[in-house]
Amino acid sequence: MTKTYPRSQELFAAAQRVLPGGVNSPVRAFRGVGGTPLMIERGEGAYMWDADGNRYIDYVLSWGPLVLGHAHPAVVEAITRQAARGTSFGAPTALETELAELVLSMMPSIAQIRFVNSGTEATMSALRLARAYTGRTKIVKFTGCYHGHADLLLVQAGSGVATLGLPDSPGVPASTTADTLTVEYNDLEGVAALFAAHGSEIAAVIVEPIAANMGFVLPAPGFLAGLRELTRTHGALLIFDEVMTGFRAAPGGAQSVYQIDPDLTCLGKVIGGGLPVGAYAGKREIMQTVAPAGPMYQAGTLSGNPLAMIAGITTLQHVQQADWFAQIVQRTDTLVQGLHAAATAAGIAVQVGRQGTMFGCYFLHAAGQQITSYATAKQYAHTERYARFFWGMIERGVYFAPSQFEAGFVSLAHSADDIAHTVQAAREVMREL
Ligand SMILES: *Cc1c(COP(=O)(O)O)cnc(C)c1O
Repeated sequence: MTKTYPRSQELFAAAQRVLPGGVNSPVRAFRGVGGTPLMIERGEGAYMWDADGNRYIDYVLSWGPLVLGHAHPAVVEAITRQAARGTSFGAPTALETELAELVLSMMPSIAQIRFVNSGTEATMSALRLARAYTGRTKIVKFTGCYHGHADLLLVQAGSGVATLGLPDSPGVPASTTADTLTVEYNDLEGVAALFAAHGSEIAAVIVEPIAANMGFVLPAPGFLAGLRELTRTHGALLIFDEVMTGFRAAPGGAQSVYQIDPDLTCLGKVIGGGLPVGAYAGKREIMQTVAPAGPMYQAGTLSGNPLAMIAGITTLQHVQQADWFAQIVQRTDTLVQGLHAAATAAGIAVQVGRQGTMFGCYFLHAAGQQITSYATAKQYAHTERYARFFWGMIERGVYFAPSQFEAGFVSLAHSADDIAHTVQAAREVMREL
């Protein structure tokens, strides 16, 4: 590291005095790569600028939502227009119906939807719904899949094939996670074993159809179909957490890529176009359990917020335009191939992956290692090398995720030149690793 970021450091020092760790969400603190975070001042298109005036090509994009890029004129215009008409009413608006209809048209598994304010709320509520609908209490989650920070989901990584959940954070009572069963991602046999032991007690299996919160791990062939079959056989619900893959893996989400029909789907990120939105959605009969249609309570003062709805509507209308989506997919392909080629040229072992407009790039300790789960990610990912790569790219004006265990994202605003600049920078940095 040669470059310095004095203004960012000064602002972050001030933040640390008044915010725990200086941030409002842990990954932003750069603990995964060391150093101090860059304080961001503004964004436009594919770029954002830090407090010292440096410009970056941004592949984090607010962790996924900004599929059109920063401050897309149509989104800004829609939000501004709505803001002048009122920012919140606590009463129904036609905008909620409009966004609902848009989502339904893109994801055929969904008949009804409830909007909330974050992905965390979406998964938490979907699991409550699964329990209410089935009258069962146990849930199955995969180690390394992230579904937000609700108590029942903060479960330790299992040490065996399939383990009973122990809390992964102080403040989470063991009683809260006792009904959360965990198993490694892509371990279908492990899931089958859980159903063999607890089949009649399992309310739901929740899964990221593409695991994008432990880096980027694709589902093994047959894994998702196997989950669909097991849950159906045992009367449990299958919940796809598409908070990240929704409208990114494909316009119809990962469920359209793998042709799976989940009972419930959780959405967030892109659905709010950069404003705070989440949603849980699915089969009509199940959704009818949600109050006031049914007995399961769930509410929100700002849920269905008009600014958030209009940002989501505008964003999804763009995503629906097939040629635009195809353009982002193609740029993502070029980027991932370029990263792979740069690593190969430098003799560095990487595992790249992509689907739609999302991608991942693990640095491995040795060639031939294959990451398919959280256990293998922890074992094979070369985090120290990633940290050096990250800072090398920052110095060259490219902003990747400040942790190897996160996915990357491309937007409509990323030009062929931006991708070429990124690949060239990666070539230089990889040579020095
Ligand atoms: C980001 C994310 C969440 C949590 O969403 P928040 O809006 O941060 O609460 C849940 N599930 C997945 C798959 C995510 O990527």
